[in-house]
Amino acid sequence: MFKQVVGQSLPKEMLKTAIQTGKLSHAYIFHGKKGVGKTTLALEFAKAILCENHTACGNCPSCKQFYSTSDVKIIESEKSIPVETVRELTSEIFLKPFHFPRKIYLIKDADKMTVQAQNALLKVFEEPPSYAIIILITSNLSALLPTILSRGTEVRFPPLTPKELKEYFKNNKLNIPSDEILSRANGSVTEALLLSQSDDSAKIGESVGQAILSFLEKKTTASMLKLYQDFLTYQEQKEQLFDLFYSFVYDTTITDPTLKKHPNQNGSVSLSLATASNIYRALSQLVKRTASNADYGLTVLTFLIEVRNHLMEERNF
Ligand SMILES: [Zn+2]
Repeated sequence: MFKQVVGQSLPKEMLKTAIQTGKLSHAYIFHGKKGVGKTTLALEFAKAILCENHTACGNCPSCKQFYSTSDVKIIESEKSIPVETVRELTSEIFLKPFHFPRKIYLIKDADKMTVQAQNALLKVFEEPPSYAIIILITSNLSALLPTILSRGTEVRFPPLTPKELKEYFKNNKLNIPSDEILSRANGSVTEALLLSQSDDSAKIGESVGQAILSFLEKKTTASMLKLYQDFLTYQEQKEQLFDLFYSFVYDTTITDPTLKKHPNQNGSVSLSLATASNIYRALSQLVKRTASNADYGLTVLTFLIEVRNHLMEERNF
């Protein structure tokens, strides 16, 4: 049971026992930092409670109905969870379940509930209908009222070990971050993902930055095609590439006409203001066209050819 969740043997054991002995609480508070499996385990737990085999088997009619039944509700919100949302819950929860013997509510980021909302929830916490189970999920326990905390069964989720993090990425067929990132991620999948993204973008900056500089400097077909290749490789990060291109042109433009060379570290390249503004114009066209579903490869190639023409004109000065 609960194989989808990596690590977390204590919470798993505790919830498994509750299901097997039938000693379920009406209110649970799942807490621990972001990215350690709270929501996944909450869903599996809810599924196992309703499962005909009590295991979240995934095959029985109950498991198959899990995501479509009105007896399971997931409440989440980008911003704060207002009292109106909780009032809706508190009036609805007293209507008997429709398909199942139980009705289960999951409140994600429960700390986003306003104080008013928490007070409204407290009324159900004090006298819940016998069939109801509410699971609050939070990474910020201190934002919940003590009165709420005292009425819920706390389930604490510790950070994952680097080994468990690795297992998570492997199980979900995601690129496995380096060991260095896994150990810096503070036991959180979310942090590991963020770290590997910023690692990727540092890599892109370095490799594509070289290609842009070489193109601006050499203006050759070969350097243009190399850059074209990079634009294709990193298509998913195109906004970052466009920003990078912009900043390279900006950094190599001579704004002071009395200077012959740009006084920066990229001293080997210097563009006149006229060329730079032509390139900016082409770049803003590129941004617009790639945003409007135009053929990405063709649009980028057209852009690079246009930029190269502007660079060649400059050479003739
Ligand atoms: Zn089942």
